[in-house]
Amino acid sequence: MHQAKEKKKIAILGSTGSIGTQALDIIRENPNDLEVEVLTAHSNSDLLIKQALEFNPNHVVIADESKYLEVKNALESHDIKVFAGQKSISDLMSITSADTVLTAMVGYSGLLPTIAAIKNKKRIALANKETLVVAGEMITKLCAENHVDLLPVDSEHSAIFQCLVGENLDSIENIILTASGGPFRGKKRDELIHVTKAQALKHPNWSMGAKITIDSASLMNKGLEVIEAKWLFGVKGDKIKVVVHPQSIIHSMVEFEDGSIKAQMGLPDMKLPIQYAFYFPQRKQNNWPRTSFKTFNRLDFEEPDTETFRNLALAYHAMDKGGNMPCILNAANEIAVQLFLEDKISFLGIAELNEKCMMNMPFISNPTLEDYINTDAETRKMALNFGMK
Ligand code: NDP
Ligand code: MG
Repeated sequence: MHQAKEKKKIAILGSTGSIGTQALDIIRENPNDLEVEVLTAHSNSDLLIKQALEFNPNHVVIADESKYLEVKNALESHDIKVFAGQKSISDLMSITSADTVLTAMVGYSGLLPTIAAIKNKKRIALANKETLVVAGEMITKLCAENHVDLLPVDSEHSAIFQCLVGENLDSIENIILTASGGPFRGKKRDELIHVTKAQALKHPNWSMGAKITIDSASLMNKGLEVIEAKWLFGVKGDKIKVVVHPQSIIHSMVEFEDGSIKAQMGLPDMKLPIQYAFYFPQRKQNNWPRTSFKTFNRLDFEEPDTETFRNLALAYHAMDKGGNMPCILNAANEIAVQLFLEDKISFLGIAELNEKCMMNMPFISNPTLEDYINTDAETRKMALNFGMK
């Protein structure tokens, strides 16, 4: 007898964001393979309700408690359980029957839900890179202990992951992350003194949430990705290199010990790495636009300018130092980006604020989860203080 194929049951944490909505596009295109178990948002109740009515998940969480009744009333008659509050996202991980959790919320808010998901043996499709930056050692250890797969969604890391299929990790000589360079590529510090948030929010190749778009302009995003790569692929920091590649066609590369380099290429579209993480180890046919080498008839490469874009150098420093230093950098940067978006500090002020916090926060070489939580909270306070001066 022909047995119906089991559908993959997916929880999307951060379903109303850029990654979340693209993940839902993929699920909409593949109703026979994929189904939604959980949707969560911070405060965008209108979109969350609309998504829940379309995808009929078992559980929905709105982190902003003031929106609870609105969401609950809208979904009550549809047999969808609604919870509110940040903590409910983590709590739900022990209740839901989802087998795969896409972490697509922004920043540090992903840490505790990701830990809860791993402890409940959910496969993780990881978009929320900040979680690995803050606590990479703890997260990778938890994954190993719980036999949980951590599948990268970030396009660079998906590229590296794809290059490594069938390879021995010991034969990696270098991991080469590509960076588009963002809207200010080629500019020097004195040209960046007065840049506005509108200019910084205009990414040349990718359409993404506000925080990662600013991080891309300041090269913080690439810095966070260097640390993310260290934990995902278990390589030493000095083997992770960055090259600026303005066309964003090569999504990243791996150089092996025999000198061979593998690259993964494609159009800059996050749906591809999201779909790859959902279907791994299979590939899934789709009809999305294909790369044309008539349009992209050259691929350029440049060295990153870490004098101008200090954040990339700060990230290497934080990675080498280890302990709670990447957590300090991440928290400082979340506040710095917020203050820049509120016109309270300048673009160059972002890296200055990050560096000040790294110099002034107490260093902890072997942090516990509590240390990470405290470091995050204390760094935020410090960054707000420095930033408001
Ligand atoms: P968005 O800002 O577009 O979306 C963030 C999502 O998380 C929204 O659903 C938002 O809800 C929710 N959210 C925000 N803050 C909280 C919180 N405190 N508690 C609970 N939920 C919260 O972000 P992106 O989709 O751009 O990015 C998501 C993650 O993926 C980031 O870590 C980013 O670095 C990573 N990533 C993104 C890429 C992209 O192309 N966008 C590429 C590679 C990685 P609400 O809408 O209600 O505010
Ligand atoms: Mg990326």
